[in-house]
Amino acid sequence: MALVSVAALLREAEREGYAVGAFNTNNMEIAQAIVEAAEAERSPVIMQASQGAITYAGLEYITSLAMVAASKAKVPVALHLDHGTSFAQVVQCIRSGFSSVMYDGSKLSLKENIAMTLKVLEIARPIGVSVEAELGKIGGTEDDITVDEREALFTDPDEAELFVRETGIDCLAIAIGTAHGQYKGEPKLDFERLKKIKALTKIPIVLHGSSGVPDEAVQEAIRLGIRKVNIDTNIRETFVWAMRQAMEKNPNEIDPRKILGPARKETIEIIRQKIRVFGSSGRIK
Ligand SMILES: [Zn+2]
Repeated sequence: MALVSVAALLREAEREGYAVGAFNTNNMEIAQAIVEAAEAERSPVIMQASQGAITYAGLEYITSLAMVAASKAKVPVALHLDHGTSFAQVVQCIRSGFSSVMYDGSKLSLKENIAMTLKVLEIARPIGVSVEAELGKIGGTEDDITVDEREALFTDPDEAELFVRETGIDCLAIAIGTAHGQYKGEPKLDFERLKKIKALTKIPIVLHGSSGVPDEAVQEAIRLGIRKVNIDTNIRETFVWAMRQAMEKNPNEIDPRKILGPARKETIEIIRQKIRVFGSSGRIK
């Protein structure tokens, strides 16, 4: 199977009321784990790479890993650029074969964000590549800001309506209380805001910083219109924890496969759990 677009996966999720997991990869083992988990759950899946992952592994390696994974997979796989902030990089990813890109203009003014997103769409649309945009500022758990300051960065529903109407993007990442990284306390999501945004935009909504959000809260968000859930931190934690376990158990081990293999195995398990929470399990017959 060739790579599929995120838009196609989310259209189906919208119709059936579930969310598709978008899992970040940095290397071969994680890429394999994402596809193996999706196959085991009979679920569509989005493999995504951040700019950091592309810098680390190289654009060609990331694209090739996803292509090989998708070509062998028995379930649909999309390859998505996570938080592309440079127009040149977005274009490069599209040219190298990504089936979907996120253009993150959340640091720009609304007007500039719309203008840049339209530029990306002009290139992506004709060749069937889907586009995600971000409105509001999701930020990191490490950001030293108060609750009030974070709320001031939440997505404004009216701006979201305007943004979607002006651009026609495929899906929108919003800020409703989640953050990237490991949470110190339990995050509180602004469900009312999500409900409003969904009613005004009527498109698939994306939840970032979802690792560490309690399952019930994620499921409530899905009930209210989230169709793509991003998971990165949970994968990092699991992968590194399993490597550490393997090394502690056998401190003299010199075969990387004996350390990375168990990490891949544990990563499959955490991704399977997430897929079940998102309700996309068993959707591919
Ligand atoms: Zn994100």
